[in-house]
Amino acid sequence: MKPIAIIGAGIAGLTAADDLRRRGFPVIIFEAGGSIGGMASSFKDAEGFSYDFGAHFVNNRLAQALGAAAICRTVEYYGESVHLCGRTYGYPFGLMRSPRFVRSAITSRLRGGEVNNAADWFRQSYGDALAEEVAIPLAEAWSGAPADQLSAAVGDKMAHGGLKSLYLKAASRLTGRAVCNGYAHELPENAGVYHVYPEGGVARLLEPTALRVAPLIRLGSPVESIVVDDERVVAMVVHGKEIAVSAAVCTAPVHILPKLVKGTRALDHLAAFRYRPMIFVNLRFSGRNLLPDTMVWVPDRKMPFFRLTEAPISMPWLAPEGKTQITFDIGAEVGDPHWTMPEDKLADLCLDGICEMFPGLRGKYLSAGGILRTPVAYPVYLRQYESHRQAFSRSTGVQGLYSIGRNGEFAHLLMEDVYVRTLKRTAALAASMEAPPSGEFGSPQAGPGTMAA
Ligand SMILES: Cc1cc2nc3c(=O)[nH]c(=O)nc-3n(C[C@H](O)[C@H](O)[C@H](O)COP(=O)(O)OP(=O)(O)OC[C@H]3O[C@@H](n4cnc5c(N)ncnc54)[C@H](O)[C@@H]3O)c2cc1C
Repeated sequence: MKPIAIIGAGIAGLTAADDLRRRGFPVIIFEAGGSIGGMASSFKDAEGFSYDFGAHFVNNRLAQALGAAAICRTVEYYGESVHLCGRTYGYPFGLMRSPRFVRSAITSRLRGGEVNNAADWFRQSYGDALAEEVAIPLAEAWSGAPADQLSAAVGDKMAHGGLKSLYLKAASRLTGRAVCNGYAHELPENAGVYHVYPEGGVARLLEPTALRVAPLIRLGSPVESIVVDDERVVAMVVHGKEIAVSAAVCTAPVHILPKLVKGTRALDHLAAFRYRPMIFVNLRFSGRNLLPDTMVWVPDRKMPFFRLTEAPISMPWLAPEGKTQITFDIGAEVGDPHWTMPEDKLADLCLDGICEMFPGLRGKYLSAGGILRTPVAYPVYLRQYESHRQAFSRSTGVQGLYSIGRNGEFAHLLMEDVYVRTLKRTAALAASMEAPPSGEFGSPQAGPGTMAA
């Protein structure tokens, strides 16, 4: 049997390869970069600071599933706040205690109305005041698009009830562990699902899986083309050589598929799908617990960043004793003034911004740490391609082509959801490969190259 080609050695590609290998299928993993991990990469410097590609938080259930529980430490505290007009509100209950926000939320609920876009969804769900002052500025900074041009589906991931949050918060206090709230959507969150973090960085979570599939990985091997014949995947081109394959499981961003896939126009519409580029600036300070919470949302359009994370509040071992590190998330476009700004200027911009919010921090500033950029941090759900997005979430439309993972599904997925969804997709792929009698890929119910579980 010809091998199944996996494109990308992040958590989705490694999980897919491991599961298909376990089921007895021949597999090759092509990774463009020189190392595995993709977005789940970690960095450590000589001074003893560790950081990920943007701050990452993971849970004990994922660590257990990946066989990495033994190298993880339990996180005792995790909290989020919103910094608004010089005040800090705990998220979500601090905001819910503000009489102004509560009045506005009740009025919006009573008023009702049509929900055609993300701005409508925020106003309807949170009330005009909270939507205008917090949710819409954050969504726009994060996506780079006006909220009325975003699909209402942006709200899907945020819609979890206040009562559930209250229960999870109470469970955190009682157990002395940072119980997860809003971090998993495929499996239920409860008091037994809490934040953990691997010694040495989030990348280490993938080590047990990577060890099992190591002989199948080809590093430094960008897939140049996926060859389709008669609307069915037949080969890959890697280093200029054509390799016959039985299926392709791709974790690359979907907007490159129209260029990558040769022999069909079925994916042309994906070229319009947009990802939001992001810059992560790490600054070091003396002291600890400098922010009011692990994560602080900044819905202030004047600030260059929309989120601050002091990961050592939750994971003290990420910085040397007596020091801390704050990560600034800056939404950007490739080539814009922030994207092209020299690193020292970016660091100054972030320092000036945070010192406006918390003036005492200037005297504690030590130095800039790593500054990272990615052109594909967040899939942006624009209304203009919402129907195509929904169709793509059901099927790629090309026989034997499966698009999985965060960028491959074009969905704002965290690692546990990537893991769970990937296993559902490899089970569907395996079932379709084994399906008699025609030898065609794709079961009749599921359709060609389906992503539906
Ligand atoms: C800012 C930020 C914060 C996050 N925070 C969290 C968090 O707190 N908790 C959490 O659980 N998750 C978090 N995530 C999400 C998490 O990082 C991703 O869900 C996960 O790492 C995605 O894995 P993946 O395998 O789908 O994709 P990736 O990790 O992107 O892997 C794709 C791989 O494909 C390779 N590739 C691409 N094109 C080709 C080609 N043509 N040929 C060969 N190889 C190719 C790439 O080099 C890459 O290695 C965060 C993400 C971001 C951006």
